[in-house]
Amino acid sequence: MNLILFGPPGAGKGTQSALLIERMQMQHISTGDLFRAAIKNQTKLGKEAKGFLDRGELVPDSITIGLVEEVLSSLNGKGFILDGFPRNVVQAGALEKLIEQLGLKIDKTVFLEVPLAKLLGRLTGRRVCKNCGATYHIEAKPPQKDGVCDVCGGQVLQRPDDKEDVIRTRLEAYEKSTRPLKDYYKLKGPYVEVDGLGTSEEVFKRMSSALHVKH
Ligand code: ADP
Repeated sequence: MNLILFGPPGAGKGTQSALLIERMQMQHISTGDLFRAAIKNQTKLGKEAKGFLDRGELVPDSITIGLVEEVLSSLNGKGFILDGFPRNVVQAGALEKLIEQLGLKIDKTVFLEVPLAKLLGRLTGRRVCKNCGATYHIEAKPPQKDGVCDVCGGQVLQRPDDKEDVIRTRLEAYEKSTRPLKDYYKLKGPYVEVDGLGTSEEVFKRMSSALHVKH
């Protein structure tokens, strides 16, 4: 199964992708995670992308599309979840071409819906393990020991772009560039909207029934 998962920052795309790949043999392709890994490893891509991530702006399309092309070309038939790509209409058009060139097909596009008013609190409270990437929330899901990851014992920190001023820029970029994709994919189909409110397990139940996957 090949999926596109999109929605506003803080909707829970990463969390839902993680739950999905626990059950299905799929490759999770998160452009945000790929950029962060490149920044950590100080690669050429990381150096190009860093300023954009720090400011909460979209990385230029040419860089982002090149990255996705590289990843999709090396999947060897494995199903995938695209998380955080496409993020605007230009990227959506490029993806469509790429999918066709590679002889692939998108089985479903899932829009994870969370009202804007809820997003700021989700994002400012989010904490992430520096080592394994497990995510927490200071109120909804704090680690058992303050600042220490339950999974691997790594340091639990706030993502630099989860500071309030950067979040505002990310939400603006979403409204301007990404939200219009709803109309694009509604027309293109198969498209489904999933309510992203509630616990991650509750949302996953809705996701799995929308995708006809066992939960
Ligand atoms: P979120 O969805 O919570 O904003 P991500 O981890 O998906 O977080 O993205 C973090 C940052 O990575 C974005 O603010 C942007 O700078 C960059 N980024 C990720 N995906 C894309 C994309 N498809 N196009 C441009 N920039 C992107």
